[in-house]
Amino acid sequence: MGATTDIIGLVEDPRFRDHRGPDGHPERPARLDAIDSVLALHRPNFRVLEPRPAEDDELLRVHTREHLEVVSEAASRAPTQIDADTYVCAQSHEVARLAAGSTIDLALAVADGQVRQGIASVRPPGHHAEAQGPMGFCLFNNVALAVRALETEHRVERILVLDWDVHHGNGTQHSFENSPSVLYASTHQFPFYPGTGAATEAGIERGLGATLNVPLPPGCGDEEYVGALQRLVAPAARAFQPQMILVSCGFDAHAEDPLASMQVTGPGFGHMSAIVRELAEDLCDGRLVFVLEGGYAESGLRAGMQALVSDLIDRPLPPPATEVPPGSALASVIGAVSEVHAGHFPGLGQA
Ligand SMILES: [Zn+2]
Repeated sequence: MGATTDIIGLVEDPRFRDHRGPDGHPERPARLDAIDSVLALHRPNFRVLEPRPAEDDELLRVHTREHLEVVSEAASRAPTQIDADTYVCAQSHEVARLAAGSTIDLALAVADGQVRQGIASVRPPGHHAEAQGPMGFCLFNNVALAVRALETEHRVERILVLDWDVHHGNGTQHSFENSPSVLYASTHQFPFYPGTGAATEAGIERGLGATLNVPLPPGCGDEEYVGALQRLVAPAARAFQPQMILVSCGFDAHAEDPLASMQVTGPGFGHMSAIVRELAEDLCDGRLVFVLEGGYAESGLRAGMQALVSDLIDRPLPPPATEVPPGSALASVIGAVSEVHAGHFPGLGQA
């Protein structure tokens, strides 16, 4: 691992807008316009990485060959739908490979110390994509592919994936649930799409304990998210000692998001970023990569990205420890998750 700089690596490209579905589909190119309106304000802080498509051998570290064929075949008869939610246009195969390859390169650049942190502003998103098929707006699992590249090409031994998208990242969990070297931690609305992510899903076989699900009831906002990160994710991360942190960064827990029912604000996302950044600074020399997942309100995408970028540039102090009122939703989830993981991460529940 080389020396770090203060420059933030950025993946963005007009081609990420070429993946487009039926009119009115929430996973739409305009999402990136909203994010770009924020990134444009901070150009001197970024180094843009040249995007490139993922190769078959990289995709096959996570996905089956049949999966690759499903995506390329769907694009050849586009426009079409792979499932009720997941569309494919003629450019989608190429764009999805570009998102995956660029996310891999960004993670490797951060691991190398070429850039201190990274932001991948990519589409389509990835965390629902399973080993054996696309799902839920997702074609290839960008974050899972980056993890495998870090393990294979950079010999990174312990990686924390924090998935704060409002939906559970079923595909990422399934990719690593039997691996002790990847801690998958997810905060998500529950029960909700895609149905997985109960607190009791804690990993299997050698990976038992290295899956940390924090299922939250609808209506949770900044206090619950910050509290869950401070009292569950942070102590687990400190015990796990990752060498790198990847964030599956959805902004669909935002209060104005049309698909979900959470109440996170822009400043809330800033506090969440500060907690994760501090963990990265304390545990892994700052090595931290944010990869865009969901987020369907343009206001939420703008507010979330502005808060995240401001945190990375200005590095304010992380928020003070959140109170946990007895009988609250936060107290209930902390109790449930701490009980499941008592044998894996004894300090859970403390700030
Ligand atoms: Zn989502």
